[in-house]
Amino acid sequence: MNNLIKESLTKLKQKNINNPELDLRILLKHASKKNNEIILSNPNLDNIDIVKFKSYIRKRIKRQSIAKIINNKSFWKYDFYINDFVLDPRPETELIIEEVLNIYRNKNLKLKILDIGTGSGCIAISLAKEFKNASITAIDISQEALEVAEKNLKIHNCGNQIQLKLIDFKNINSKFDLIVSNPPYLTNDQFNKTDPEVKNFEPKLALVGGHDGLKFYREYSNNLKNLMNKTAYFVCEIGINQRQDCEEIFQNSGLYLNKIVNDLQGIERILSFSKI
Ligand code: GLN
Repeated sequence: MNNLIKESLTKLKQKNINNPELDLRILLKHASKKNNEIILSNPNLDNIDIVKFKSYIRKRIKRQSIAKIINNKSFWKYDFYINDFVLDPRPETELIIEEVLNIYRNKNLKLKILDIGTGSGCIAISLAKEFKNASITAIDISQEALEVAEKNLKIHNCGNQIQLKLIDFKNINSKFDLIVSNPPYLTNDQFNKTDPEVKNFEPKLALVGGHDGLKFYREYSNNLKNLMNKTAYFVCEIGINQRQDCEEIFQNSGLYLNKIVNDLQGIERILSFSKI
């Protein structure tokens, strides 16, 4: 094995990184001028930008995520631009899209959708691609996150369907057919126990939902109903063990729980509510 590769692998292993070989292959591919796959056991490093590669390894050793190093993460059917101002899109969040597709079988519907806390825009853009006639308002309170979303909107050519707005949810006052959100829902304690990739590189603003993690669900429940058309749905992501509390919070505000979707680990992860 080439020395540079061997040394890099050892460094990654010393930092307890889960899949060091896989990470190494991805970073090599990204440092390759021809973007080709590199075989670790018999690498051809002719096309590798060594300076770039070494800087990637330094970042990974500091436990920045691969997605944030290469500024890219796949979500649903697309690749998204990602940086430190947004969460890396998580696979479990794709279940929001799946659930919406379950609810609305007719993809030609002219749905009016609100995405609260859009971040990279991955949910809004994926929905825009599935529902070509939908018009989506994607909001966030982080200007930096909206700049990331704007970039993704351009990459995916969705500017005509999605309107980005720097606004707090509380100041929205129109009606929608569908509201989606992956709000911050960790407790401070949970946040402190997350992996360094999350704790040190992801915006805390997008992760922590007050002392018990439920702050945003409570805030939403105060005026969500007023933003929903009669037949509207609200689909959101929740944290571990939050199903019962969230169910209660939204039912007290007059919404009905329709469905609980478990993620691949069997954790209750997505809730869908309706008005009638
Ligand atoms: N699932 C994320 C995590 O555990 C949290 C995402 C969120 O708060 N919306 O890091």
